[in-house]
Amino acid sequence: MTGELSPQASPSEQGYEGALRPSTLSEFVGQSKVRRQLGLLLDAATMRQHTPDHILLAGPPGLGKTTLSMIVASELDKPLHQTSGPAIQHAGDLAAVLSALTPGEVLFVDEIHRMARSAEEMLYLAMEDFKVDIMVGKGAGATSVPLELAPFTLVGATTRAGLLPNPLRDRFGFTAHLEFYSDDELASVVRRAAGLLGFALSEQGVDEIARRSRGTPRIANRLLRRVRDYSLVHETPGDTASVQAALALYDVDQHGLDRLDREVLRAVVERFSGGPVGLSTLAVSVGEEAETIEAVVEPFLVRTGLLTRTPRGRVATRLGWEHVGVAPPGAPNG
Ligand code: ATP
Repeated sequence: MTGELSPQASPSEQGYEGALRPSTLSEFVGQSKVRRQLGLLLDAATMRQHTPDHILLAGPPGLGKTTLSMIVASELDKPLHQTSGPAIQHAGDLAAVLSALTPGEVLFVDEIHRMARSAEEMLYLAMEDFKVDIMVGKGAGATSVPLELAPFTLVGATTRAGLLPNPLRDRFGFTAHLEFYSDDELASVVRRAAGLLGFALSEQGVDEIARRSRGTPRIANRLLRRVRDYSLVHETPGDTASVQAALALYDVDQHGLDRLDREVLRAVVERFSGGPVGLSTLAVSVGEEAETIEAVVEPFLVRTGLLTRTPRGRVATRLGWEHVGVAPPGAPNG
């Protein structure tokens, strides 16, 4: 999904995101359990003057994993080095990063499940003993030279915790599972961001954006920016009417469904009599990749109770029928 409701950041968005990131745990909205767990870990480490355990942040995109890694570094008052799994294609790439770390530094590895296998094995020893074995030479003459590292804290982020090999998962002292945000929490995210952007948005406007943001702060901030654009260009106040007009322009409906979500739901209801229908048949019928439907559209429709997955295929729920404006079978007419 590439539209306004994509949970992934577009490259041009990163500057805006930086400006809206909370920089302390107390500014970080929602995820109260994770905040308390992380707060305790960091306070204890600071009191002991020791690096905290390695931290794994697991959860869907756009919920604040990168932001939390920055907060960990700033709460510990240590520098942060950021890299990502896809950037570590060889053990040597990782050795270069690890050997440059300063004592106590926080190393953030985004998408850690996509790191090369050889690097993963090097990381086990580095996480456990702050050491790596560097291979020098080739073939029969190759020898391994141990290299001491400065103690560091690894913060790994993954959208697919299940893909991490057990030995790697076990070496994290703490795993935070980030959950989708409630509408109230998203309203706080929007209110805070509107304040930072100097955009006067009414309380109803805040709630309206929150409701359409699919439980994801990144989407909330993006919709807020579109509403702000709309108000500027059309010289309208930041009220519910502006939110509705701006988001209608971007095809985002009152529940946060976009054009593709609605097409998928409508296809299940109208072309397949509510299902069950298989993923590939559904994908062909809306002219979209099966992967996009499975990874982006379906989880949201399932989470909002509009669609269910059964062993025989996807089935629209009663709510799903109602959402596309068709009476479900067995419902009284008129
Ligand atoms: P990805 O996995 O795609 O990198 P992510 O989980 O790392 O996503 P972030 O980049 O940390 O997500 O957050 C996306 C945006 O949402 C940022 O602009 C950030 O400021 C905002 N954000 C995330 N969580 C919160 C929060 N709890 N409170 C306020 N803003 C938040």
